[in-house]
Amino acid sequence: MLFPKGFTWGAAAAAYQLEGAAAEDGRGPSVWDMFCRQDKAIFSNHTGDVACDHYHRFEDDIALMKQIGLQAYRLSISWSRLLPAGTGLINDRGFEFYDRLIDGLLDAGITPFVTLYHWDMPYELYCRGGWLNPSISQWFADYTTLVAQRYGDRVKHWMTLNEPQCYLTLGHQMGVHAPGLKLGWHDVLRCVHHSLISHGRAVQMLREHCKIKPIIGWAPVGEVKPPYTDSPADVAASRARTMSASKRDLWNNTLFSDPICLGHYPEDALRAWGRDFAKVSQKDLDTIKQPIDFYGVNIYRGQPVKADENGSAVEVEDVPGAPTNAMQWSIQPQALYWGPKFIYERYGLPMYITENGFAGYEWVDTDGMVRDPQRIDYTRRYLGELSRAIAEGIDVRGYFHWSLMDNFEWSDGYRPRFGLVHVDYQTQQRRPKESAMWYSRVIHSNGGHLREPRREALRITLPAVRDRAQAAEAELEPLA
Ligand code: BGC
Repeated sequence: MLFPKGFTWGAAAAAYQLEGAAAEDGRGPSVWDMFCRQDKAIFSNHTGDVACDHYHRFEDDIALMKQIGLQAYRLSISWSRLLPAGTGLINDRGFEFYDRLIDGLLDAGITPFVTLYHWDMPYELYCRGGWLNPSISQWFADYTTLVAQRYGDRVKHWMTLNEPQCYLTLGHQMGVHAPGLKLGWHDVLRCVHHSLISHGRAVQMLREHCKIKPIIGWAPVGEVKPPYTDSPADVAASRARTMSASKRDLWNNTLFSDPICLGHYPEDALRAWGRDFAKVSQKDLDTIKQPIDFYGVNIYRGQPVKADENGSAVEVEDVPGAPTNAMQWSIQPQALYWGPKFIYERYGLPMYITENGFAGYEWVDTDGMVRDPQRIDYTRRYLGELSRAIAEGIDVRGYFHWSLMDNFEWSDGYRPRFGLVHVDYQTQQRRPKESAMWYSRVIHSNGGHLREPRREALRITLPAVRDRAQAAEAELEPLA
């Protein structure tokens, strides 16, 4: 069997990227609403004001999820829909929306996996210092308490933060995501520390206030540097590089995961940043290291490395014309083998792949279908690698495809399409792509369908090409 019994098959999305209804029913602005108003901050000045209008269409969207056969759906809660200013005044209509969404999912037999923070900080809190202000962890704890009290009788699976590496680097260091700051290292590291404390406080509040026993994790970026070859030297260099934080950037795992899972910052990071790292108290470290139940990880890519003569990792550049997605991210399926493997080796926690997926530029064909063979092939290859890790004993419990439907891709606006379902943003019409039908078969066969050769693609090739393809297919090794 490729995937263990009880493996969870899902899809993911996030509030700002699909809900829309940005100023409706009492929702307060988030940093993303404000960032999108800056001229040229976003491709073509797109905004998330309407997005996929999921706020009004969530019932149809749940029906779609059910048709696909999703067992779980990873959603995020918009903090400023519940608390328009981030603290204080409560917006009942916001709470009611997530009641309806969560109940709808449960009625459809789809398990909600809820993320507390997927980048959309209430704008008012940003004005009070946002991640720079040490009070943020209390604000986040208070918000989490309300969420846990309201939904903790029905929701079991929780994630605290989504990809701190991204909102901190892109949003606070490079200024290309909301809130658009270009802080120096000292301040960026302050934001890192406050994010980690906020995570810890949220875990405490979920444990204290959820009625049913919560299963808690988080969803960081999985920064993977797979080995270029299977040689012991390349594997050792790859492991060392993937699990290190010795370069002065946040694109790594351990700066965040060591404090959360092991209770201290990694030595190499402390050395690399030196005086930029403010002194950290043991009390803070204790707050950060709360027991968690799973390690969620988002993995899309991973530039291979090989060992140089000293055994150090050197990145291997893509050859010209190497496969990429619409974000220009190169396709590296083995990241979904090595990433979970290295992370599991170090932290030993059950894992979920909380995001993985492919950005394309699909459109609706003249016959009304949306064909996305590359997404199917991408996912098939990545899942094949994941199953290899599972076969070796890495405890991966589920996979969430990013994304359920095309949506607002942050500073790239609506141009790249990550969905299993195509969205026409003019009419809001949803059309399941070929990949949705394929993924549906994968789910129903618990991964067994991954072994099936891609017969459907052969139907549309020319006879001569088809004969060659059929011959090649006959020689294909089945997965695993
Ligand atoms: C984020 C998503 C994003 C996706 C594709 C992740 O970085 O969590 O919000 O849309 O990757 O870029």
